[in-house]
Amino acid sequence: MDNEEFRRWSQRAADWGADYRAGLRERPVRARTKPGDIARQIADHAPETGEPMEAIFADFERIVPDGLTHWQHPRFFAYFPANAAPVSVVADYLVTAIAAQCMLWQTSPAATEMETKVTDWLRQALGLPAGFAGVIQDSASTATLAAVLTMRERALGWKGNSEGLAAHRAVRVYASGQVHTSIDRAIWISGIGEANLVRIPTAGPLNGMDPEALAAAIAADLAAGHIPAGIVACTGGTSIGACDPIGAVAAVAKRYGLYLHVDAAWAGSAMICPEFRTLWEGVEAADSIVFNPHKWLGANFDCSVQFLRDPEAQVRTLAIHPEYLKTHGHDGIVNYSEWSVPLGRRFRALKLWFLMRHHGLEGLRAMIRNHVAWARALAERLAAEPDFEIVSAPVLSLFSFRHTGGADADAHNIALTNAINDDGRIYLTQTRVDGRIAIRFQAGQFEMTQADADAALAAITGVARRLSP
Ligand SMILES: *Cc1c(COP(=O)(O)O)cnc(C)c1O
Repeated sequence: MDNEEFRRWSQRAADWGADYRAGLRERPVRARTKPGDIARQIADHAPETGEPMEAIFADFERIVPDGLTHWQHPRFFAYFPANAAPVSVVADYLVTAIAAQCMLWQTSPAATEMETKVTDWLRQALGLPAGFAGVIQDSASTATLAAVLTMRERALGWKGNSEGLAAHRAVRVYASGQVHTSIDRAIWISGIGEANLVRIPTAGPLNGMDPEALAAAIAADLAAGHIPAGIVACTGGTSIGACDPIGAVAAVAKRYGLYLHVDAAWAGSAMICPEFRTLWEGVEAADSIVFNPHKWLGANFDCSVQFLRDPEAQVRTLAIHPEYLKTHGHDGIVNYSEWSVPLGRRFRALKLWFLMRHHGLEGLRAMIRNHVAWARALAERLAAEPDFEIVSAPVLSLFSFRHTGGADADAHNIALTNAINDDGRIYLTQTRVDGRIAIRFQAGQFEMTQADADAALAAITGVARRLSP
């Protein structure tokens, strides 16, 4: 592809992207594809000789869009959002064209220095004290892995990497049952082992871990000769938005000298609004905090920001210094690859810079406040319907509900979720609350309006009536 063709096809791709976004409301939110439908249309072997771009692009338009679930659809109410604000997509076009590896300061000073600045913009926006240093990770899962490795190393006197875990007594980590499964995987990958992830019971309306039970579990582990290393707390758990009492948990962490990592992957974006910060009160005492601008805030995936009180501990855990990565003659610079598990890194700061400058923090706050208000109003309207019950009250813009028709409540609510999604107007997912199926609803799409909230109510109640008249 010569440069003129590159220009033409890049423009064509941008046109396609704008048309795609403009037409999203006309499409069913969830793909209607059956397993194998797409694979059947893709050749079994790579071509031996090159094909013309016209043919490749035509096949893309013919095969791919119908096989997509449309995450940018304004009526996507499933999982959590993966918002890609148009302005961040534009930034990402540029990043893709530049295609730099931003592992060291010298491999792209602009990427490193902008990352330092925009993560500090976010630190201020979230109301975190000066002293927290930010780094952009690819995902919350990786940030949590880095935090778990750091708590392990700190507890083992920095000897786990060199000696392995077999040389040591059991390393213990504490979390509630409401944390995301990425915590389990961090525990597996770090070699700590699921058996050493101690589950702390939860209590109260926010389903937070009980700090007394936490302290008792740590004391019992010390008495048993184990090595308590750290706590993973959550603000806005994935299932129903559980929030641990961060201040009380941090006090326990301090008493026993444990590392505290807070996973606020989804809810962290809402903390740009001061009125929601009570949900993570005390967070300034954490050692590590992760939140995903690629979820609610609007930065194109991937963009997960980790704030660290002592980056040195994470660097000591993860940095490697082979000669080919040394940057001789540059003192006092930051090499962000030393803060993370992967070596290579994209220029992720650019989309945050574009996003925050284009919308301003007030614009982003207005979006989040709307989502929270619409979700609360929808929960109230559903609760007023005769056959619906709210299972978990709204935490920010997330709640869960259940339809009461049908003998087997679990089977009925799964059937209802499927029927709603087949209908195509909206997309929802289910979860389990206290062992029973509930339907999750979260409002968070960048382009969502009040009319989309109304459409959600109409789709949910309409399909439910159709299913059990
Ligand atoms: C989405 C989510 C994660 C995982 O995020 P990734 O960036 O996809 O790894 C972790 N924790 C919580 C609470 C989440 O909502």
